[in-house]
This record gives sequence, structure tokens and C-alpha cells, in this order.
Amino acid sequence: MNVLSPPKNLTKNVLLGMAAGVILASALYYNQDLIPTGLYLAVEKYVFNLGGQIFKNLLMLVVVPLVFFSLVSGISSLSNMVKLGSIATKTIGLYLMTTGIAVSMALIFGYIFNLSGYEGDVEAFTPTTGDSSLYGTVMRIFPNNIFGAFVENNMLGIVFISILFGIALNLTDELTGGMSKTFEKLNTVFLKIVLLIMSFAPVGVFCLMGSYVMAKGLNVFGDLAQYVALLIFVLAFHLFFTYSLILKFFANLNPLVFYKKMKDVALFAFSTSSSAATIPVTLKTVTDELGVKKDVSAFVVPVGATINMDGTAIMQGLATMFIASTVGIDLTLVQYGQIVLLAIVTSIGTAAVPSAGTVTLALILGSLGLPLDAIGLILAVDRILDMIRTAVNVCGDAAVSCIVAKSENELDEKIFNR
Ligand code: ASP
Repeated sequence: MNVLSPPKNLTKNVLLGMAAGVILASALYYNQDLIPTGLYLAVEKYVFNLGGQIFKNLLMLVVVPLVFFSLVSGISSLSNMVKLGSIATKTIGLYLMTTGIAVSMALIFGYIFNLSGYEGDVEAFTPTTGDSSLYGTVMRIFPNNIFGAFVENNMLGIVFISILFGIALNLTDELTGGMSKTFEKLNTVFLKIVLLIMSFAPVGVFCLMGSYVMAKGLNVFGDLAQYVALLIFVLAFHLFFTYSLILKFFANLNPLVFYKKMKDVALFAFSTSSSAATIPVTLKTVTDELGVKKDVSAFVVPVGATINMDGTAIMQGLATMFIASTVGIDLTLVQYGQIVLLAIVTSIGTAAVPSAGTVTLALILGSLGLPLDAIGLILAVDRILDMIRTAVNVCGDAAVSCIVAKSENELDEKIFNR
């Protein structure tokens, strides 16, 4: 087995970990009277919460170096720098388009199915959002301090710095004694770190699911059932319908082959809830299985992980409608248009880490004058939804990689169809 392959039986073990977490935690939750309260709380805090949080922290820990090294090593080793402009334009255009379609679809289905709001009390919630307005988002792309961007986890700034650094490294590679090789090696080390962390994913997911169930029992969806069901439906629709359509229409590729090969990537994204932590697996599958040449995948995949989030945009569209309905506000057509534009911008500004989409949702709500407190409502069900939308996010990155590669003559269709 290749040292850079995902851990063996990851899919099976993650699903087992999830199931075990739900079973054990619900057994404890529904037998609370038989267990001393102190013990119950201790298990919840020191087994499930602590384990889950450590797993999440480990994933977040590698996101910044992973994006930086994968972009720098990808761009610095491009054989044809002139092509970068054309690849970048197509990539960003397609990312914006798919996200626009995603959120529009969410709103259309929300409207058709008459998504209604929550009837119970709304828990107080204090959103922790930075400046995610359009102005703030653009400014974050251009930080005034390289180290500041890294310390603040400013992903847009880090992407910009990485591209700039990668281009400069590419152009000065001879002068610097082939320094791009060093970055490729460092990139390999970080890829390995993610894979090492992922060998603990079954335990991490066990703890995350357990802490979720121990706090609320199995009836977590309760009054949010319509929102949850509709969201999962639109995510599935976008994943299977929109991506099939664009793969066929723009690149004349067989979508079934695409889905079959993306299975493990989607599951990896599902287990990590982080598009960024999934970069190593997405890159490997897109290059080795879908036949996208490295010149394209090395740029399109890490950039996509950072800025392309169709699943997140779908959640934000439906969540906004849900919250508007909860507080009894009828959205106007102009406001629907506003949601589409805002969701495109915020999904670009959303970090590719667990739960980030709910943080940037505050911008959309704020712009429409909706109460930010209501985010607390959907947080209750966000753990699982985050897993599903992250899987959609990464499939979007891979689909766009194939389309851009095809249009640049950088797709090996023999490998794709193999
Ligand atoms: N977890 C998502 C991702 O990494 C972002 C989000 O929607 O919260 O792609």
C-alpha cells in the first residue's frame, strides 16, 4: 500500500464509529436515572466532548499548512505558467456559477415545499463573526501582514499569499537551486499528517456523534424535521443532478463513473466535515482516478476547497428562509435575489473547517435584518448536516476540476473511464 493512501477500511470503520457513538450515547441518555448525574456529565464531558474536540482541533491544525503547501507546491511546479491565467479564470467562473445554481435551487425548493419556521422558543446565541461583508471579504484576500494572515487563519489571504509565493517560486526556481522541490516534500509531509490524523477518525467520529446524542437524545431533529429533510433533499439533488448535468454538458463525461470514483472522497469529507482536510484525498482521486493532470488539479482542488462551497450555500439559503419564516417575515423577490448574491460571497469567505458555514450565515441574516440569535436553532442539527454538505462541497471541487481539465486538454479520459 502506498504511504499516501487513506487508512485501510476507513469508510467501514468511520460508519462503525458513528453507529457505536450513537448507540452508546443513546443507551446512556435514555437511562440517565440509573446513572449518577456526576458520572453522566463526566462521561459526556471527558469522553465524548473532549475526544470530539481533540479530533476537530487536529483537523483544524493542519488546514492552514495544507492549503499553503499544496498550492505553493502545485503552482511552483506548473510546467506551463501561461496557462495558469486561463485555468484560474475558468475555475473561478465555474465555482461562482455552481454556487449560484446551488443557492437558487435551495430557494426554489424551499418555496415550492413551503418551508415553515420553528414554533418553539429560540435559544439565545451570540454569533462570533468577523467582518464578512463584501468589502471585508475582498480586503481579507489582501492582508497587510503575511504572518498575520496565518495567525488569524485568514484562508482567503493565505490562498492569495500561496498563489503569489508559488508563482514567484516557479519563476525563480533555477535561481533558488530548485527550491520548489523542498515545498513539494513539505507538502508530502503534511499530506501524511492528515492521513495519520485520519487513522483516528473512527474514534473522533464516535466521540462527535456521542456528544451530540448525549446532549439531546435521538430526537435531535424534532421540530426541525422539515428543514433537515428539505436540506438533505436539495443537497442530494445538487450532487446528483446539477453535477451530472454540468459534467455531461461542459465536458461530455459520464457522471456515473464520476460518482463511483468519488465515493471515498465524499466519505472522507463526511468524516472530517472539512473540505480543507480532505484536500489530500480529493487531489489523489482527481489526479489518479479521474485523470485530471497535475497542472490543473494542483490549482483547482486547493482553491476549490477554500472558496467553493455549494453545500454550504444551499444550507445558508434554506436556513435564511427557515429563520425568516420562524420570525414571521415574508421575503420579497428582491430579498431572494439578495440571498443568492450574499450566499455566493459568504460561501467564498467561509473557512473549509467544521461548522464554519453557520458562522458566516450571520452575515446573510444581518444584511436582511433577521435576528442572528436564531442561528442557535439550526446549530442543534448542524453536526450531521455539516458532514453531508461538506461531502457535496468536495464533489463540486472535483467536478469543476474535470471540466476545467477537459477544456484545457489536460484530462486523460482513458484514466477517467478506466
Ligand atoms: N464544513 C464545511 C467545509 O469544510 C464548511 C461549512 O459549511 O461549515 O466544507
